[in-house]
Amino acid sequence: MMGSLDALSARQIATGVTRGDFSATEVAQASLDAIASRDGKTQAFLQVSEELALAAAARTDAARAAGERLGPLAGVPVAFKDNMNLVGTRTTCASRMLEPYESAYTATCVQRMLDAGATPLGKLNMDEFAFGSTTDSSAFHPTNNPWDLMRVPGGSSGGSAAAVTAGEVTLALGSDTGGSIRQPASLCGVVGMKPSYGVVSRYGVVAFGSSLDQVGPIGRRVEDVALAMNALTAGGRDRLDATSQDFTQDYLAHLEDPIEGRAVGVIPALLEAEGLAPEVRSAIERAAHKLADAGARIMEVDLPNMASSIAAYYVLASCEAFSNLARFDGVRYGYQEPGCATLAEQSSLSRAHGFGPEAKRRQMLGAYLLSSGVYERYYLAAQKVRTLITADYQRAFAQVDAILMPASPTVAWEHGAISDPAALYLADVYTISNNIAGNCGISVPVGLGTDSGMPIGAQLQGPTFDDASLLTFARALERACDMEGVVAPAFAGKGGEL
Ligand code: GLN
Repeated sequence: MMGSLDALSARQIATGVTRGDFSATEVAQASLDAIASRDGKTQAFLQVSEELALAAAARTDAARAAGERLGPLAGVPVAFKDNMNLVGTRTTCASRMLEPYESAYTATCVQRMLDAGATPLGKLNMDEFAFGSTTDSSAFHPTNNPWDLMRVPGGSSGGSAAAVTAGEVTLALGSDTGGSIRQPASLCGVVGMKPSYGVVSRYGVVAFGSSLDQVGPIGRRVEDVALAMNALTAGGRDRLDATSQDFTQDYLAHLEDPIEGRAVGVIPALLEAEGLAPEVRSAIERAAHKLADAGARIMEVDLPNMASSIAAYYVLASCEAFSNLARFDGVRYGYQEPGCATLAEQSSLSRAHGFGPEAKRRQMLGAYLLSSGVYERYYLAAQKVRTLITADYQRAFAQVDAILMPASPTVAWEHGAISDPAALYLADVYTISNNIAGNCGISVPVGLGTDSGMPIGAQLQGPTFDDASLLTFARALERACDMEGVVAPAFAGKGGEL
């Protein structure tokens, strides 16, 4: 008996399995027990892949018995957002459209976690097709924030953040098109990283906005996330994703580097913004002071076109989503309405009954924005704004090594409290410019809200392809804030004994 699984870091688990302190099978069983006792409350999982988990763990144990070298994630329990293909599981995107869809192949990001020795525990809930920031738009059920089950975990990777926060798994993968890793990580009090565009392969991940989508890890500490980054980039560029590049490196190597003298930017106008909760604002200001205490130089910078990022993002992302989701017509992919007289009727009713309201809204918006006459006014204008925002970042990163800001203007809210779609879109204000520019970002828990008692994440953004350096700042912030490895109090140590 080693205690509770959720007390261990990914590295401690892999080391323990490699040394033989416990077996991968025992770890897998502890994770299955944690899921059995906790997931009824969080509802983070859509499918638990018990057979796959036990088979993978048995292979790890057999490899050890045969004297083979084990991978850096040997035996570490991992689960995947349900827009990632994994053979032996369904990939539903939390949509009726894909409810029975069996993964025909395994996504590169998933495969790389498995190649590093991780044990796959299953698939996690999300907003339908990743449209949203609450996970409430899942066609199957909502997911609850482990800190307060009445509240949302954020989204769209809400299942990924909740499963890690409740200690059901050690690591999860999410995808981030406009904040969907960083925002739920912030609302749940865990670490979530969106790597620079091109660092992680998107092959086998159901596309939302192809020029914006990135896969990244969620964990309870920066070190776990860095370890996952090593696995995700091992093997270099993925020839199955033309936009992927070779960023194989040791993301752990520079975690403990000092940040003395290095410059961190803050944007005063963002902290004055209407809609920013006072408790979030003061948490971010405290985080800036802590980075200064650790030796960083805090400097004011500006991203003058950031105010246009929401408009630009919702144009670009909706247009790309409309084009990507055209394949779900009941013939090529997806739910097929029975008993239709014509192909047009079948396509129309399959889409009408397969998609939920938000997925329809995005596609109708995209269809309109791409129509002739409208395209020039909106899509082309949004592309120009994209160029301006990218240039803003280049100017800012000529002065500073990272930029500190909130990940979300508020802490997690109660299910259903925000029902106006436009109000939800506006809450993405801090995350989406990063996707527009393709640079890297991470949310690190910095404390609990003084009014709500809910966790608050600070977001750090770094220059494109400076992902390893971003992790150095994230680790410095984590060290200063003393939130490392925190499991939501209601779940800590309950179930999942090893
Ligand atoms: N909340 C944003 C949206 O609804 C971001 C979603 C995402 O990153 N997948 O589009």
